[in-house]
Amino acid sequence: MKVTRCATAVVEANYDYTYVRIYADNGVYGTGECFFAAGLTAALREMFRLLIGRDPREVDRLARLLWRQGSGAGAVAGYLYNAVSGIEAALWDWLGKSTGLPVYQFLGGKVRDQVRVYADCHAGDNLESWGPMLLPRRPRWLAEALAHTAGDGDRYDPARYRRRAAQMVAAGFDALKFDIDSIVIPTGEELHRPLHRREMDRMVECVAAARQGAGDHVDLAVDCHWRFAPSEAIRIARALAPFHLIWLEDPCAPENWRDMSEIRQAGGCPILTGENLNRRHGFWDLITQRAVDLVAPDFQKCGGLLEGKRIGELAELQGIRVAPHNIASPLGTIASAHVCATLPNFVALEFHGSDVPFWNNLVRFPDGERPVIENGWIAMTGAPGLGCELDEDEARKYAKPGEGFFEE
Ligand code: MG
Repeated sequence: MKVTRCATAVVEANYDYTYVRIYADNGVYGTGECFFAAGLTAALREMFRLLIGRDPREVDRLARLLWRQGSGAGAVAGYLYNAVSGIEAALWDWLGKSTGLPVYQFLGGKVRDQVRVYADCHAGDNLESWGPMLLPRRPRWLAEALAHTAGDGDRYDPARYRRRAAQMVAAGFDALKFDIDSIVIPTGEELHRPLHRREMDRMVECVAAARQGAGDHVDLAVDCHWRFAPSEAIRIARALAPFHLIWLEDPCAPENWRDMSEIRQAGGCPILTGENLNRRHGFWDLITQRAVDLVAPDFQKCGGLLEGKRIGELAELQGIRVAPHNIASPLGTIASAHVCATLPNFVALEFHGSDVPFWNNLVRFPDGERPVIENGWIAMTGAPGLGCELDEDEARKYAKPGEGFFEE
């Protein structure tokens, strides 16, 4: 069995949904999704040269070849892992379709039949789009959506948190996440100055409003996007303790696991981090030192679905739970769900596309039309591979200008 052709496509959504497709000489292809990065499709094209003529059944062998050839031995960071992760997922999809088995079977089999999803609610809405260097942009779909949205006040307004929480609970979700990192009193030095008392008060008001809107039986998490110093994060965790958060995410700069450990030991909220870490090695200190309560690998960048499974197993050894980061399209989200279905210590998978009007239309299922997420859950079927196909007619409508669409 041999890989005969590889191709990419990019959809310009809230982020660049970057797809990899791998074709083999049995007439079957597999599709995977990468976490976005600048220059990613050029990197993928370079990697494809290593795949042509290789046996696509040797998934781990190929992933390790790409890790080594693409990053240099010992490097466990860098966006080349985004590329490898998409390729690896495409190989699993191909193998599943070629053998008639769902991808979770290759990861040890599922331990649950449906995967719980939590809704990322940002700061009360999520209607935005970002280029690969996190510069804001306005594709046509966004301009149209914004034209239909009356300006309903500031982000970081408690009323907005309350409203959004109630909306998402009404949509069926029983776990939500809100951002609290950008509630700043503008000084022009937002990222570098100490936490202001007013800022702290506003955070507490916003989380209280979200709790009120969501109700007591909904799991609530907050994200700090690495914004605070450890001593500030400890104050925040203690101030938010009365709201019984399921986690406080990325409270401080990610480089030093000891900071996370200190915040965790101070109590107040369970601590989660890990969305930018790759391979088991990236998670090693956090997990072996019990520096966090939960880890959040992103399976579109951490090195692949199998490596995601291994990270989850490493965490399980230390009593640490897994709540994967996910900003992917439905295809990547479902790929992640295959890993989640196999992890006993899994909590919930992120959903970041609630304000992308066409999110749900980007995939088709072999058993007919249905929403990807129903009442906050993804059903794991026995369909081969990832169990879904990219809807190419729909995806092509939002294809990123200047990028190919699965062309030679
Ligand atoms: Mg986050």
